[in-house]
Amino acid sequence: MTAPAAADDPTATDATTTDATTTDITAPATSAGSTQTHDAPRPGLTALEDDVERVLVVVAHPDDIEYGTAAAVDRWTAAGTTVTYLLATRGEAGIDGIPPEQAGPLRAQEERDGAAKVGVEVVEFLDFPDGTVEYGMPLRRAIAREIRRRRPDLVVTMSFEVFFAGGMANQADHRAVGLATLDAVRDAANRWIFRELAEQEGLAPWGGVRAVLLAAANEPTHYVDVTGHLDAAIASLEAHEQYNVHLPDDFPKPAQLVTSILTGGAQLAAAEGVEHAVAFRLLGA
Ligand SMILES: [Zn+2]
Repeated sequence: MTAPAAADDPTATDATTTDATTTDITAPATSAGSTQTHDAPRPGLTALEDDVERVLVVVAHPDDIEYGTAAAVDRWTAAGTTVTYLLATRGEAGIDGIPPEQAGPLRAQEERDGAAKVGVEVVEFLDFPDGTVEYGMPLRRAIAREIRRRRPDLVVTMSFEVFFAGGMANQADHRAVGLATLDAVRDAANRWIFRELAEQEGLAPWGGVRAVLLAAANEPTHYVDVTGHLDAAIASLEAHEQYNVHLPDDFPKPAQLVTSILTGGAQLAAAEGVEHAVAFRLLGA
């Protein structure tokens, strides 16, 4: 990313998403709360169950997962869930002072280091060009391939909306990858789409994805209680050492940022005893 400071800071759950009234995913369209006043009690979000065996997290760049989502990953891996990271790029255009040929390998390693802090052993890169990722069949096919290979119960990606919660513009790669991931879940389940995956690569269709979770979404519906996982999440972002060093001096430090995001998530969750949470919008697959 050419403007890393602003673009990779989805502090969504920290923001004023006071219209997050939707908790019932079966009726999101009708319960959007447009008639509620600011005085109406906020119903909070629905807790996500832990009963998943395999999670695939698909994002555009090294560090996208580390602004909050990594805390949920730490909870899942601690419970025995296998979590795999899939990154569309190596983030090679994300540090202004370091040319892409050096930044790519450096950031890929920082992502592996950050992943290890929250119990993730496998980090894969699709090597699309950082900053100019396009939504399209090559991207969908590449993600569908990994879904068939990993056979996840749950797929996590970032919001593909134009604006994050809080009003900050979402970055182009995030939008492309988020939307392609949503579509790739269906592609992966359909034997007649990207037939070569089955016929030439031996990857059978996988229709076992129960839900797609969108991080930093405007209308979160669910939360993962990550109370007790704050330190691991901070360590995961701190592992992006060179990236962080090159951010502007006034950019919030990992501890401050992650604490703020997860505290904001807990406020949205509005559940007793939940000190820190990651808020997601859940889309049934
Ligand atoms: Zn990013």
